[in-house]
Amino acid sequence: MRIITHTCPACGTIVAANELEDNRVMKCPGLGCQEVLCFEDLPADAREHFLDNLNQYQI
Ligand SMILES: [Zn+2]
Repeated sequence: MRIITHTCPACGTIVAANELEDNRVMKCPGLGCQEVLCFEDLPADAREHFLDNLNQYQI
C-alpha cells in the first residue's frame, strides 16, 4: 500500500493523508506552526489513489 502524506510547506511536518481526509482542513500539528493544511493540497493523483483505496487506510 502506498503511503500518502502531505508535508507542511511552512515547517516540514509530515501529516498522513487519512488525518487530512478526516478533517478536510486542519491546523498543522507542528509545534508553533499556524499553517492550515487541506486535503485538497494533496496532488490530484494522490487524492484519487487515497479515495479509491480508502478502506486500506482506515486503521
Ligand atoms: Zn507546519
